[in-house]
Amino acid sequence: MVKSFRGGVHPDDRKRFTAAKAIETMPVPDKVIIPVRQHIGAPCAPIVKVGDLVKKGQVIAETQAFVASPIHASTSGKVVEIADYPHPVFGCCSAIVIESDGQDEWAEGLPLTRDWRTMDSAAIKNAIRQAGLVGMGGATFPTHVKMSPPPEKKLDTFILNAAECEPYLTADHRVMLEQTDRIITGILIAMKALGVKEGYIGIEDNKPDAIEAMRKAVDNIVELSVVPLKTKYPQGAEKTLIYVITGKEVPSGGLPMDVGVVVQNVGTAVAIANAVEKGLPLIERVTTVTGGCITEPKNLLLRIGTTFEQAILFCNGLKEQPAKLIMGGPMMGMAQSTVNVPIIKGTSGILVLSAKDVNHGEERPCIRCGRCVDACPMGLIPSMLSILGERGKFQEAKAEYDLLDCVECGSCVYVCPAKRNIVHYIKLSKAQNAAMAAKK
Ligand code: SF4
Ligand code: SF4
Repeated sequence: MVKSFRGGVHPDDRKRFTAAKAIETMPVPDKVIIPVRQHIGAPCAPIVKVGDLVKKGQVIAETQAFVASPIHASTSGKVVEIADYPHPVFGCCSAIVIESDGQDEWAEGLPLTRDWRTMDSAAIKNAIRQAGLVGMGGATFPTHVKMSPPPEKKLDTFILNAAECEPYLTADHRVMLEQTDRIITGILIAMKALGVKEGYIGIEDNKPDAIEAMRKAVDNIVELSVVPLKTKYPQGAEKTLIYVITGKEVPSGGLPMDVGVVVQNVGTAVAIANAVEKGLPLIERVTTVTGGCITEPKNLLLRIGTTFEQAILFCNGLKEQPAKLIMGGPMMGMAQSTVNVPIIKGTSGILVLSAKDVNHGEERPCIRCGRCVDACPMGLIPSMLSILGERGKFQEAKAEYDLLDCVECGSCVYVCPAKRNIVHYIKLSKAQNAAMAAKK
């Protein structure tokens, strides 16, 4: 049976541009720009200096903070600059610039060979931390932190989030077809580290070939099952996914671990397998480069620190004047003001949209049509959240309208006939509440 949830929207998925395109490896650029902050949590500090020679996989920035992930060189070469550079999430961030030596030589001891079945939970989590893993669906929360719940939280279920519900994006789809066994290994390693015996792989039913491939792969693994999901946005939002697959509701303001669940992304599962079995750090990822302006949309394996511009040129550049550049998908992705930003660990897509694909129109007052309420998968009243945000009533939005339960999926914006920028007001209200809490 195909599973679903209340609310949500049905945008044209536009995956046809790249769904059938095998992953292509882009050559290492002459220069990579590697930001020292690529995760949620404390930023890293550089531990190399200008003039140093580095090898691929060498740690180049780190911090002792627990909620953080180290940063590694994505190729071998010379550190030629450490300076502020445009950043796709933070606007601007210190970055380590490495000029490639063309050798692409691994740091000493890499890759190594390890049998994860003989490793205990602590050793697996340590390998994951050392490899700098973060959630690769875009959230970039450090993976070792997500896998280290406090002792009072008892986990029983692992979910692989393979919904890939954002329009245009097909990176996870291709990874499921091309690296099926690595995903399964990553899931089994994560389940061992977490001590859970039940695992689910949730895939939207617009990817029947991926459902079939994953089903074949889990055929003899009793702990794992594939769950086909209805194609509906935001099927891949963690809380909706957990509800649809297990029937458990994450409490308001709570985390998946509150209901005994850990969710990981497809790319992260592969990265777990590579980190634990081979000691390989997260220095590359699969990214979909697509949108109406891209001459030849592709799924690319890219080194961290490649710029958006270089990736777009590898897709034969632009065929028409771009109206919008986005990192990620069109619903939850982040608009960019320049192509000179680097690919980071959370870059699932580079989307270049033409004017006809961009939702134009002036924002108007709410007409109380209720469409946003019907579309909200979290059962919120988005119209009120937008009005309160607009009027500066941030605390009221939090106390009376469950502001913090909003997953910022953008379904409300998608259906709003008044073109209200609801998510903008919600983000503003969240930021103001956080600032007030910090002040206290
Ligand atoms: S209010 Fe938040 S969770 Fe609800 S539809 Fe809008 S963005 Fe999504
Ligand atoms: S969809 Fe837009 S116009 Fe309709 S109630 Fe929601 S915010 Fe108001």
